[in-house]
Amino acid sequence: MPASPWPTSTPRPLPRAPTRSKIPADQRRSPLRTCVGCRKVRPQDELVRVARTGDGSLAVGRTLPGRGAWLCRGSSSCLDLAGGRGGFARSFRAPVSASALAELRSAMAADQQS
Ligand SMILES: [Zn+2]
Repeated sequence: MPASPWPTSTPRPLPRAPTRSKIPADQRRSPLRTCVGCRKVRPQDELVRVARTGDGSLAVGRTLPGRGAWLCRGSSSCLDLAGGRGGFARSFRAPVSASALAELRSAMAADQQS
């Protein structure tokens, strides 16, 4: 009967703290949205919501009523794509005027500065 290589008095290792499974940052449960300009799917945090108000103008805000479209935050090129290729019109199911687009552009520019 060979002697055990380990003394029986070896203290048991301390129980390890339960390791909480780490979720990678890109898989956190942030809702995904599609940019109506570049059509990329991104976390909602990286996009801004554009809503078409009753009078046909566009406004930026997540809580605005009505149909919404999402655009990459601070991306004027996505705004161009959305306005120029029917992205907005398709999302809102209504035409979007050039003046509404211009207003939205300045609103988004102001949003970036804050
Ligand atoms: Zn985009």
